[in-house]
Amino acid sequence: MRPEILNPLFAETLALDGVGPKIAKALGKLKLERCVDLAFHLPTGTIERVATDRLGLDLVGRRIVITLTPIDLREGRGRAPIRIFAADAHDNMVGLTFFNNPGWARKQFPLGEKVRITGKLDAYGDELQIVHPDKVDEDPPLSEPVYPLSDGLTNRRLRDLVRQVLERAPDLPEWIESSVKSERGFSDWRGALAAAHRGPNEEVARARLAYDEIFANQLTLLLVRQSARRRSTRPLEGDGRLSGKLKLPFELTNAQARCVGEIRGDMAQERPMLRLLQGDVGSGKTLVALLAMLEAVEAGAQAAMLAPTEILARQHYEGLRKLAEPIGVHVAILTGRDKGRVRESTLMGLADGSIQILVGTHAIFQQAVTYHDLGLVVVDEQHRFGVSQRLMLSEKGKRPPHLLAMTATPIPRTLTLTQYGEMDVSRIDELPPGRQPIDTLVVSEEKLADVVAGLGRHIDGGGQAYWVCPLVEESDKSDAAAAEERAEVLKVRFPGKVGLVHGRMKGEEKDAVMERFARGDLAVLVATTVIEVGVDVPNATLMIIEGAERFGLSQLHQLRGRVGRGTGKSRCLLLRGNNLSETGRARLALMRETNDGFRIAEEDLRLRGPGEILGTRQSGDHVFKLAEAEDIAALAPAAQADAQLLLDRDGGLEGPRGQAARTCLYLFERDAAVGLLKGG
Ligand code: ADP
Ligand code: MG
Repeated sequence: MRPEILNPLFAETLALDGVGPKIAKALGKLKLERCVDLAFHLPTGTIERVATDRLGLDLVGRRIVITLTPIDLREGRGRAPIRIFAADAHDNMVGLTFFNNPGWARKQFPLGEKVRITGKLDAYGDELQIVHPDKVDEDPPLSEPVYPLSDGLTNRRLRDLVRQVLERAPDLPEWIESSVKSERGFSDWRGALAAAHRGPNEEVARARLAYDEIFANQLTLLLVRQSARRRSTRPLEGDGRLSGKLKLPFELTNAQARCVGEIRGDMAQERPMLRLLQGDVGSGKTLVALLAMLEAVEAGAQAAMLAPTEILARQHYEGLRKLAEPIGVHVAILTGRDKGRVRESTLMGLADGSIQILVGTHAIFQQAVTYHDLGLVVVDEQHRFGVSQRLMLSEKGKRPPHLLAMTATPIPRTLTLTQYGEMDVSRIDELPPGRQPIDTLVVSEEKLADVVAGLGRHIDGGGQAYWVCPLVEESDKSDAAAAEERAEVLKVRFPGKVGLVHGRMKGEEKDAVMERFARGDLAVLVATTVIEVGVDVPNATLMIIEGAERFGLSQLHQLRGRVGRGTGKSRCLLLRGNNLSETGRARLALMRETNDGFRIAEEDLRLRGPGEILGTRQSGDHVFKLAEAEDIAALAPAAQADAQLLLDRDGGLEGPRGQAARTCLYLFERDAAVGLLKGG
């Protein structure tokens, strides 16, 4: 249960003075529903003012607060503004200009009466002027935070609400390790919160809040790890009798061999393995996975490999079977599409252990599927699965299976930490020899006709090509529509040679088209991002990506990785729209410049922030409200170490700092993480 100390923060905004249904609704538009949401709604700028008693050219352009005496008035003719001339304490003059409502202005600023005003001082010719000054009873703050607003909210209102929240905000116990705190100059949580609301310049205060959020995130991941590894499992040690017979047309790269070694080392332990295998597209992760699975089979256990899509599951199945069957290993596939007899017999084979390796989609973890002895689970393209799903996987089997997750999304190290901080990481940081870099060109969409002509020449020469259509905002349906339209146009131009796949199609339909493309019956495959993961057609050496600026860089990189699978030269054309921003240009230029996925990921993080890269909006976990890309880079390693140190000393989070850390978890709504603790 959430500790009582946090109650004032988790009260609804309706509890604040001045918030009725109307304001609540306006706040709701900004997702500000509870006081804590307001507490973390930080200003994006400030308005600065100078209090003075002397007008002067040096203050032109600044907002000033000053006492003036109106002494003369010039009524405008027709639409001309009314101007009231006023003097400061030193007889310097300024014109107060009002464009409408002259009667009101005259009443507000009667001649001869001192008045305190605020407004922006301008120069009008060689006269000073203030347009529409505000009369004030009380001096406004000299530095006023400016908040993101929605219709129906003024900055003044929001400031007042935040002020109330800051008053209610409790003093929270300290969860940050004292050395970290003093090293970084952090103040207490409540003080940091108040300071952060003074404006974006309060960098240390903001960093403290971001640190808290990252800390809560890292602690959550480490608690997941701790609970997953608390259960012991069977060590799996192979004897090489299967992997030794494997017939490969090539040698493992050094990086592959190193990763296999790390995985074997983990599997030989009684603690279940929790390892992430990162490797750029085409780096050969599948083979590493196969060697891990053979290790499990040699040790008498079963292995299951989970793929994110039907197409990918089938491709893995075909690939693995080709290698594993000659050495006497039984590989089977199970997807949502398998029904009736086939499914029954697969289920039986799994239950009696005659199937040693299973490949499939989520169907392989359904209730009805029981394994004889599941020892290893491999999850391909891990970025599609959230923490909760990962936890669910480990429930399968008598003992928790060893887990190997694989991803081709080359995210930067710091993001690896915030995304996968509960796992050990192996990286395949080298491509198999002989791969040629993919030539990438950025082309304006105005040149579409030339691109299509080039595509024609490519096909005539016996080549195949992918044509990827842009993501259309909002719904898949419109993605599909865009792809359909493009396919129609290309079909007219290249009759009988164009196929289409998109997310709205049924699995069977999609696979049929994919198969025709893979066999070479189709020369062009028009697709949405469904081909992003995995698909392997070596003869396809041209990729055209429409609306390239609308994709994430890492996503473009993955798409591009669909070509360049063979040893032939491959090309990728990025079609861009006309109104490209500076950032947009820089991003596409980077794609042209490098084939290095990790470098692209680092840049993507810098240019767009973490949410976009990770596609967090889809997966729903790990949404940072406060921490931004730079914060993550700067703070995640320290927060991870801090959280780890705390758990090393107090794994149950029971001591005073442990209790404080629980409060931090609740503050950032990682309630489920506390649930992993005994008595949580
Ligand atoms: P990914 O890491 O993207 O999943 P794959 O496992 O699909 O990559 O491998 C890509 C291609 O590289 C496959 O055709 C595979 O047979 C080949 N491959 C894997 N390892 C090596 C190697 N050591 N030497 C040469 N080719 C390899
Ligand atoms: Mg792969």
